[in-house]
Amino acid sequence: THFPGDHSGNNKPRQTPGMLYSTVAPTPVQAPALLAWSEALADQLGIAPPNEQDVLLLGGNALAPTMQPYAACYAGHQFGNWAGQLGDGRAITLGEWPASGGSTYELQLKGAGPTPYSRRADGRAVLRSSVREYLMSEAMHYLGVPTTRALSLVRTGDPVLRDMFYNGNAQYEPGAIVMRVAPTLLRFGNFEMPASRQETANLQALVDWTISRYYPHITGDNKIIDWFTEVVERTAKMIVEWLRVGFVHGVMNTDNMSILGLTIDYGPYSMLDDYDPNFTPNTTDLPGRRYAFGKQSAIAKWNLGALGGAIATLLDDTEPLIAALNTYDDVFWKAYYEMMGRKLGLDETVQQDVQLITKLEQLLAGTKPDYTIFFQLLAQLPADLDNRDAIVQHFDAAFYQQPAGKSAEALQSFLKKYTERLGHNTRNAADKAATMRQANPRFILRNYLLHRAIEELEGGSDTLFRQLEAAMKDPYSTQHDEFFARRPDWAAQKAGCSMLSCSS
Ligand code: AMP
Ligand code: MG
Ligand code: MG
Repeated sequence: THFPGDHSGNNKPRQTPGMLYSTVAPTPVQAPALLAWSEALADQLGIAPPNEQDVLLLGGNALAPTMQPYAACYAGHQFGNWAGQLGDGRAITLGEWPASGGSTYELQLKGAGPTPYSRRADGRAVLRSSVREYLMSEAMHYLGVPTTRALSLVRTGDPVLRDMFYNGNAQYEPGAIVMRVAPTLLRFGNFEMPASRQETANLQALVDWTISRYYPHITGDNKIIDWFTEVVERTAKMIVEWLRVGFVHGVMNTDNMSILGLTIDYGPYSMLDDYDPNFTPNTTDLPGRRYAFGKQSAIAKWNLGALGGAIATLLDDTEPLIAALNTYDDVFWKAYYEMMGRKLGLDETVQQDVQLITKLEQLLAGTKPDYTIFFQLLAQLPADLDNRDAIVQHFDAAFYQQPAGKSAEALQSFLKKYTERLGHNTRNAADKAATMRQANPRFILRNYLLHRAIEELEGGSDTLFRQLEAAMKDPYSTQHDEFFARRPDWAAQKAGCSMLSCSS
């Protein structure tokens, strides 16, 4: 398929009606230097370790002869509002890499300079946000969560001007570029764009291509509905995985939703420290908290509705599309309860377990323990469940505030119900322990750790960065227990350690 693209190579900000992409070359940087390289991903792709020439390429200072770089044109709903054309304002796709078995991977530089979609911004990314994307997208992969990957992290040697808190205090920060990798980086917004411009032929071509290329098992007369149904399913399952590990995306705009159901666009995200369904890490998301931890499932469905609205323009009858959208709830809740069952080490989740899980959710929301540490401590229960003090003591490391009175009672009451359920669990002890170990991460990339690693890097030391890079590859083991601790009190309110702005 030849998609309509604007081939002027011009990066002046503009609307590009009729175009699905614009060719544009990366803008060279001062002194590209490799900071990190994902060896395992490179091996999987069959890419050799980078030499000096390759680092130039990863920094946008060189192109291989076969590369045809472009920025994609997409639209989106931001915070629930139609935002019109957005597009890759600082991301430039270099091309597709053929891996073994016929699969291909889109290779994209994020922060590689202005494109027609940069609007009033500079097309660059700071080291701070690039480190966050590099480490967290790789961490999500090792956690087993569907995600885009990051192959490289390069310092540019160029300063980038940012107003981190939008308070008029702009300052220079070091610039960086991440190479993102995924089978495709297409978003819901890529489909919303031609739909809103009533460019039906472009939309049809993009849909047909997406299905044949990335959903090749879907064929036949009903293929658009079957495809949309699968996007719904993948998205629901991705959200369940976020909830399993305690990930809060922070900017679930439709332009940040992958058509493959991958986690994409790591901005003001956060892992949960204390369990709070209302927690949003994004300062721009206050006071509405649209993108709070506990709302992510509802927002994902809302976003799928926006995608459905775009696709509807290709269909005569939209009833089946609405029915497909509404499969979301069943898929989500089934996967959610199965997932919670695994976090509890259950053999299977039956109807009666819903009560137990609800009790657990209420306990967590009411006492706000550290989500990660709580489940680690739950794997080995205190011997005497009649001794409330001993129970509270057992969970001490998880609590930011020790439960007393009704809260301690709720903890005890949950544990008794849970033990009762385990009494007729058909998994043996070893199997139950293994299930819990595999479902509950022990190491997570907490925001305050990232914040410290970034501060150190900016100061010239990569010690903590390297430690986190190693730990995130092995999140279910006890090998990195130097990080097995609650977020320290000093980090709770400190900017960048708990909440973040979109400045990146
Ligand atoms: P995000 O909030 O990261 O999803 O970005 C929303 C839109 O803003 C996308 O179109 C981005 O490409 C664009 N954008 C964000 N930062 C920059 C930047 N520094 N330069 C150009 N475009 C940007
Ligand atoms: Mg984005
Ligand atoms: Mg972003």
